[in-house]
Amino acid sequence: MPGLDSPVKFVRGVGPHVSEMLAAKGIQTAEDLLYHLPFRYEDRQNPRSLDELKPGETASVIAEVRGAAFLRTRRMPLFELTVGQGRHALKCIWFHAGYLEGKFHAGQTVALYGKIEPSRSTSNFKMIQPQFEILPDSSDDAETRLLEVGRITPVYESLGGARLASRWQRKVIFNLLDSMRGNVPECLPATMLGRLDLTNREAALREVHFPREGTSLSQLQSWATPAHRRLIFEELFFLELGLELKRRRMRERAGIAFATNDKVREAIREVLPFHPTAAQKRTLGEIVTDMRAPNPMRRLLQGDVGSGKTIVALQAMLVAIENGYQAALMAPTEILATQHFLAARKLLERSSRRYRMVLLTGSLDEDRKRTSRGLINRGEAQLVIGTHALIEEKVEFDRLGLVVVDEQHRFGVLQRFKLMKKPNQPEPDVLVMTATPIPRTLALSLYGDLDVSILDELPPGRTPIVTRRVPEERSDDVWDFVRKQVAQGRQAYIVYPVIEGSSDDQPELDFSHDEPAAAVSEPATTPAKTVRKGKTANLFPDISGQKPSPKGKGAELRSAVAMHEKLRTGPLAGLRVGLLHGRLDADDKEIIMRRFQRGEIDVLVSTTVIEVGVDVPNSTVMVVEHAERFGLAQLHQLRGRVGRGAAKSYCILITGPRVSEQAEERLNAMVRTQDGFELAELDLSMRGPGEFFGTRQAGLPDFRVANLVRDRALLELAKLEAERFATVTPGEGTETERARVWARLREAWQRRYGLVEAG
Ligand code: ADP
Ligand code: MG
Repeated sequence: MPGLDSPVKFVRGVGPHVSEMLAAKGIQTAEDLLYHLPFRYEDRQNPRSLDELKPGETASVIAEVRGAAFLRTRRMPLFELTVGQGRHALKCIWFHAGYLEGKFHAGQTVALYGKIEPSRSTSNFKMIQPQFEILPDSSDDAETRLLEVGRITPVYESLGGARLASRWQRKVIFNLLDSMRGNVPECLPATMLGRLDLTNREAALREVHFPREGTSLSQLQSWATPAHRRLIFEELFFLELGLELKRRRMRERAGIAFATNDKVREAIREVLPFHPTAAQKRTLGEIVTDMRAPNPMRRLLQGDVGSGKTIVALQAMLVAIENGYQAALMAPTEILATQHFLAARKLLERSSRRYRMVLLTGSLDEDRKRTSRGLINRGEAQLVIGTHALIEEKVEFDRLGLVVVDEQHRFGVLQRFKLMKKPNQPEPDVLVMTATPIPRTLALSLYGDLDVSILDELPPGRTPIVTRRVPEERSDDVWDFVRKQVAQGRQAYIVYPVIEGSSDDQPELDFSHDEPAAAVSEPATTPAKTVRKGKTANLFPDISGQKPSPKGKGAELRSAVAMHEKLRTGPLAGLRVGLLHGRLDADDKEIIMRRFQRGEIDVLVSTTVIEVGVDVPNSTVMVVEHAERFGLAQLHQLRGRVGRGAAKSYCILITGPRVSEQAEERLNAMVRTQDGFELAELDLSMRGPGEFFGTRQAGLPDFRVANLVRDRALLELAKLEAERFATVTPGEGTETERARVWARLREAWQRRYGLVEAG
């Protein structure tokens, strides 16, 4: 009799060969197979009748095959299937589907699932490329008939070609459940199930695969049946329990107990250029409380762009420094590291104390790096600001007290920051900063091994940013507007999706904010020379003579390099127009950024290298060209570059000729709201949590049943329950039940989540 942990190859119907195919899909045990849930259900109990279908709806129907033909039309080969019910007929069409030839015979019963489209030729409807299944007839075995006809039938994602499609999975899973009847161990305490009104594990597994007659189909489709809820809760509970334990363990480790006395407070007061907002005071309070505790801090500081995270971090660093420790700040790009360095230096110059600061980035020459490393190693550098080079260059700090890192570094750093300290030194505190506004519950779960502080208030004196959408054809108006703003002493950004010209055929760049800016925002473009062969004339067209590209086909994507040249010599002639992109070497980038910061450049034409954290309060205009190509989070980040001073600011989204439905939605959202949390919610629901959080890349858990967006309420519940379970000694339930919880936790964390050990 198989157990949940039996290797899948011992499951009836699975041999060594199939088990290899399953392994490729991450299915190694009987349990993995059982937790591979149907992605939809077909009601074959009460099938829809063809005459009640409406065009536009997605429906599942059962009908009889009337005829099939493979047509070699001039445009492309088509496979056409006609099915009927009484006098009603439905036509189904598949393109390039030679593989369907010979598959259908008149008289067969088929289940079809797809979108109902009106049909031109007849009064009947049609389905284009529906999913289908030929239903068993009396010649098939009884078991197959039992599983596929006259019931709510589960439909699975294939686990490997046609062979391991739905039909195969139904049988194997059905048999597996049958052989384990009464033997699926419960992994949650009975009292918890009772209190939360959750289905027991075995019943839940049975119900999600083979729903009982009368189960609500809409609940099934949205994974909202009690059975689904039980399995989702289970997954989230073990995630949360693991995170809770991690936090607890961290609190038990030895760290540094920093002191906050008058001397420290005075040091901070000396450098603060303004009154902190209430949110800044509160978050700093939370951070300092952690720092005073004798255990290592692991805290996330979350705040929308412009909420003033940097100054909070700087104050925390002063606490460390005034305690005789070194503080390190790690930024995601050289530009930002440099900007932080300059900004920190400016602030610290206000102090009567002389702080020793060091900048360390990868592009510094060897001599400077060596000097910096020496200063850091001897403890002479108190405040160290840099990029990932701080880890890569094998810098060893003398007395590292606090590390402040950008979210993008989080996973790399939490694992490796130990390399930064000398072996005999205590563990430093770590503060992670993120500008990704995500709902608190999600933050608490995703960064579950961190405590979370939220800066939910913008510094005073900000006026809302006016956001407008403008079609490419009207860009001349935009340039006029930019000129006017510059005439008033303001500065502007103009952002492009690519560095140099490339064809419009390239796929839409839906950037994800949580990937390193340079890598995503600047896809490797071929050097202009090769791309623009013989097309040079197009690059400098007379702006007034420029027509909107007719259908966008083959139209050149406006790029930073080309538009810089065009604007400088055309519509923005006479203004000081700078160019910034990721292929410039670090020195040049730095020079340009500094000149922009000092107001020596009026208009900065750029790619998204300016995305994160760049702070020039005098800039009031953010123009984004081809705005349809940017992701929502990225647009929000870009807009956050303006509106940082007291003057009224503008964000102008210029769109090209082709805007997808999704892009349309993103742009509308940008115009409608400036609330980062609202935009994040929308982004999350549009992209799905995997892409939103960059799961694979960040090493976040890949859930088998849960979905962080859909299941937020259950996530909250799971978190509460996990805290409760971990807090109450000896824990809920009987001793055996508790042992099962812990065993399952270990298993889940090792096998399923594989989450990086934080520190
Ligand atoms: P973030 O890093 O969260 O995007 P910053 O720390 O760069 O935001 O702050 C945004 C701008 O607001 C900066 O110009 C900063 O000097 C200013 N600022 C921050 N806190 C305050 C405050 N309490 N009062 C006034 N201005 C502030
Ligand atoms: Mg501490």
